[in-house]
Amino acid sequence: MNFPIRKFLSYYKPYLNVFLLVLACATFISLLSLAFPLLVRYVTHEILENDLSAAFHDILWVGCVMIVLVILQNAGNFFVDFKGHEIGARMESDLRSELFSHMQKLSLSFYDKQKTGQLMTRITNDLLLLSELYHHAPEDYVKYSIRFLGSFIILLYINVPLTIAVFCFLPVLGVLSLYFNKKLNRALTRNKERIGDVNAQIEDSLGGIRVVQSFANEELEIGKFNRENQRFLESRKGTYKAEAYFFNTAEAFVQMITITVVVFGAMQILDASMNLADLITFLLYIGFMVEPMQKLTHMSMQFQEGITGFQRFLQIMNTKPEIENQPEPKSLPSIDGQIEFKDVCFHYNDRTNTVIDHLSLTIHPGEYVAIVGFSGAGKTTLASLIPRFYEVTEGEVLLDGENIRELDLHFLRKGIGVVQQDVYLFSGSVMDNIRYGNPEASDEEVILAAHQANAHSFITDLPDGYHAEIGQRGVRLSGGQKQRLSIARVFLKNPPILILDEATSALDNESEGVVKEALDTLVKGRTTIVIAHRLSTIRNAGRIIVLSKGKITEQGSHEELLRQEGSYSRLYSKQFEGQVN
Ligand code: ADP
Ligand code: MG
Repeated sequence: MNFPIRKFLSYYKPYLNVFLLVLACATFISLLSLAFPLLVRYVTHEILENDLSAAFHDILWVGCVMIVLVILQNAGNFFVDFKGHEIGARMESDLRSELFSHMQKLSLSFYDKQKTGQLMTRITNDLLLLSELYHHAPEDYVKYSIRFLGSFIILLYINVPLTIAVFCFLPVLGVLSLYFNKKLNRALTRNKERIGDVNAQIEDSLGGIRVVQSFANEELEIGKFNRENQRFLESRKGTYKAEAYFFNTAEAFVQMITITVVVFGAMQILDASMNLADLITFLLYIGFMVEPMQKLTHMSMQFQEGITGFQRFLQIMNTKPEIENQPEPKSLPSIDGQIEFKDVCFHYNDRTNTVIDHLSLTIHPGEYVAIVGFSGAGKTTLASLIPRFYEVTEGEVLLDGENIRELDLHFLRKGIGVVQQDVYLFSGSVMDNIRYGNPEASDEEVILAAHQANAHSFITDLPDGYHAEIGQRGVRLSGGQKQRLSIARVFLKNPPILILDEATSALDNESEGVVKEALDTLVKGRTTIVIAHRLSTIRNAGRIIVLSKGKITEQGSHEELLRQEGSYSRLYSKQFEGQVN
């Protein structure tokens, strides 16, 4: 495994001072904890060897020392717990911000391949496990190794044969621990997969609850859910079994060690080669020796999960945005709006089939061009090459004579407004959603844009008007209302180039009317590419382009194309015939 250790450690950097202090503190309290059995030994000695009245003063004195040690130890522990966790949480938060910022810049081609749910797990769960590793592991390693080594040395000093006897048990306990660790790990992985399946099932069934109920398929969904739920239950049983096996076997082992110490110790006391005080001390230190062996399972799990979390984090961080600015990106003083496709080919990365095939097309500033063609012809794809959502595979796309690859991406995209069939509204107020088109716009400008988009009157009819909340717990808007909000956004953005991709396709005739009116105002004075299958939208176009399998098969005005009796007239008779306007 090639693990980027430097990168891993670099996240400690901002917190290095506090982190070192935490480690120092962990060292200190581990040393303190080693002193306790020694003090007990001292007190026992006093009782055994002196008469009570002489020992009394000493015992009181040791008692006081122990109280001070307890206070110091707990104060230290408090600092390690609190600051350690805080550092972990801060590092996690840093990683999460970094990951999210990176994800914002990744190209659409990345999101074509990912499920949002999985990405969410990465941002939350994976990083949580990683932060556990970041702060717990070093503390734990310091603590256990000091306590283990310290108690080993002290025991050797007290009684060599008995120490060696105890020591012989440890490798067995270690091996046992690793064996069960493997089992437990496998069980836990299965557990996670199963709970993932349960969640996926919930998301699917609840997300599609309208469909479920309209098909009256509730029982079917309950059945599917119960199957997943049952599988999850089975996997949990497996985990608990492995856990119970491990904990009880380990416990039995520790008790074996205790018995060994008691029996052999007592024999040594009988032949006077050891005293009672040492035996008690021995018993007190056993815990220190077996502790790291018992924790081996936990620590190796923590380690594996943290490392996996980090690798998954890096996997995304190392994914380069496919579409980025060139070293010295250009901006133009203004955009006239001439768009030129020069012998453009394009295919999506996962597919070999060509979606755009050696296509050349020039759209003049201010022109209103319609693109028509059957579903899957490549219309949306062609339009999405203009804002550089995807990179052309061959050829080039020019804006005002400049290759868009050389333009500043921000500048390019600010110059293009896109209105699509599905509108995405963010949670927040109506006002916030329109202002998304230009975050600097004043309230008056937002309201003006809403007027232009034919949205003002329905907005003022909402319970809270412009402050009505949209989203899961907010108002529900109709398709036409949502579309008008998205048009208001574009009014605010005020781009010289417009792409309308089936913007009215999902609407009924009535809402189509108002939306179309808004669009007609919007397109004035802008270079417009409209993808449509409504005759009303196409008729106004100065030029209609017929796209088929990524190639332009025909172009011209509505009447010209009908007269040619080619693919347009076939498309026309299939799609538009019978549409009233
Ligand atoms: P249209 O808008 O004309 O209906 P599209 O441009 O959406 O057509 O699609 C053209 C072809 O590209 C189709 O075969 C479609 O399956 C494919 N396609 C569209 N989007 C993607 C994508 N994100 N990843 C892979 N293939 C895609
Ligand atoms: Mg499309």
